[in-house]
Amino acid sequence: MKKRIAIVGGGISGLTAAYILHRDYSETCDISLFEAENRLGGIVETVYGDGFTIECGPDSWVTEKPWAEQLARELGLADELLRSNDHARRTYIAHGGSLAPLPDAMRMMVPTDLSAILASPLFTEAAKQVYMGEPARAEELREAALANRGSDMDESVAAFVRRHFGEEVAETVARPLLAGIFGGDIERLSARALLGPFISMEARHGSLIIGLQQRSHAPRSSVFTTLSSGLGTLVDHLQQRLPTTSVRLSNPVTTLDSLPTGWAVETTRGRESFDRVLIATPLDITRRLLARLPFTQAQQAATLLPSHANSGLVVAFAYRRLDKATAAIPNGFGFLVPAAPVSDHSLLACTFLDQKFPNRAPEGATLLRTFFASSAADRLSCRSDSEIATIARDHLVGFLGPLPQRADVTIVRHWPRSLPQYEVGHLARMAQFDACLSSLHGFLVAGNALRGVGLPDLVRDATQAAHALARN
Ligand SMILES: Cc1cc2nc3c(=O)[nH]c(=O)nc-3n(C[C@H](O)[C@H](O)[C@H](O)COP(=O)(O)OP(=O)(O)OC[C@H]3O[C@@H](n4cnc5c(N)ncnc54)[C@H](O)[C@@H]3O)c2cc1C
Repeated sequence: MKKRIAIVGGGISGLTAAYILHRDYSETCDISLFEAENRLGGIVETVYGDGFTIECGPDSWVTEKPWAEQLARELGLADELLRSNDHARRTYIAHGGSLAPLPDAMRMMVPTDLSAILASPLFTEAAKQVYMGEPARAEELREAALANRGSDMDESVAAFVRRHFGEEVAETVARPLLAGIFGGDIERLSARALLGPFISMEARHGSLIIGLQQRSHAPRSSVFTTLSSGLGTLVDHLQQRLPTTSVRLSNPVTTLDSLPTGWAVETTRGRESFDRVLIATPLDITRRLLARLPFTQAQQAATLLPSHANSGLVVAFAYRRLDKATAAIPNGFGFLVPAAPVSDHSLLACTFLDQKFPNRAPEGATLLRTFFASSAADRLSCRSDSEIATIARDHLVGFLGPLPQRADVTIVRHWPRSLPQYEVGHLARMAQFDACLSSLHGFLVAGNALRGVGLPDLVRDATQAAHALARN
């Protein structure tokens, strides 16, 4: 008899797990993928209009992490791999009413070239001096890092950045950068969970500047990779590899329960029994499904998940032809807005998608994508899409100059409570979470609440979960 495996949630996590199970274990396992919506992909969604390829969720993955690219290649998408235009990579920070470029050769808030920092209008003399002094503090920083080695000691991203580069860099660079990726607050986000490579660098070199300078001798490929026809193609190809009968769209799972020899999965259409279950739903749903299971370990695991997920709101504007005499869009990948202005609707970031990747827009056209997060996204979400688009456009005008009243294509996408916040202590809580679940046979959890929100991490975790479900 084949093992019956239920996967709950058809985002990139659930889909990857379903694909691996079907690829490697179709002789021994039967899979059913339950998805609440009438489409697969979850936050991954590409729309096309007027020659534009518009990403509503993720626009790319970090090239350095190999797992998403490996999956794409395996699905026959090697010819689709598209690298970011790194020769034009430049990110701006809204600063004193204009857009100031982040100095070249920065990795997040860490520079490799200190002369670029000295020349930057973004920092005061005091902040530049803190940057200049960081390499000289290497020994002190390294000793502090080693003192905590092997312990669960964690600190906030803000505290970590301040220790190296001071308050101003934390506010001007780290705060908007981390908010742009995780939609969260650096005072609460975990350094160990989100800045792993820098934590290792600190333990080795003390100074992050020295650590990065030593690493940057290796030739680097483009920082971001995507697919030429959009990330929706990854979803389509995963779906095509699955038997149509195993995909249950518009079929939200309402309850999970234990059976003497497995698990019951309940939807509005009925109750079915399975030998194994993988939950790959958004944080709130995962928490609810776990909390209602009749096991204290599952209920305890639910309490160890991130306590909160922030919302995201994306508004994309596609212009076939912009009057360059009015709108002044600088060369680069986009800009970030330090969170400080206490406005109800503060814009967090804008990506110049036509510049970040080739072929996202017809020749001479412009594709801008704005991003609102957290309370700004929640407050805006009460408005109509056309009001939201007007507000987003007004923000852009403030930074870029006049834009037409209407774009040729406008897309508004709401992603409520989609960005789990990995707060201080997250990794230790995840270790406890795993320990709690280890006693539930044939029951696993994947998804962006656990060990990474980026596509490569999710593909890696879902692949591991699929193998574990089939083998154990
Ligand atoms: C605006 C935005 C931009 C991003 N940009 C990037 C980026 O550029 N690069 C990057 O790597 N990452 C990015 N991310 C993060 C990344 O997109 C997500 O972390 C990832 O797509 C989450 O995948 P998932 O499968 O874990 O969850 P989801 O995509 O949330 O999928 C979960 C699925 O479960 C379904 N579901 C919910 N409830 C039930 C139920 N009861 N029963 C059955 N199914 C259910 C949902 O409908 C959904 O399809 C971005 C995120 C956002 C919000």
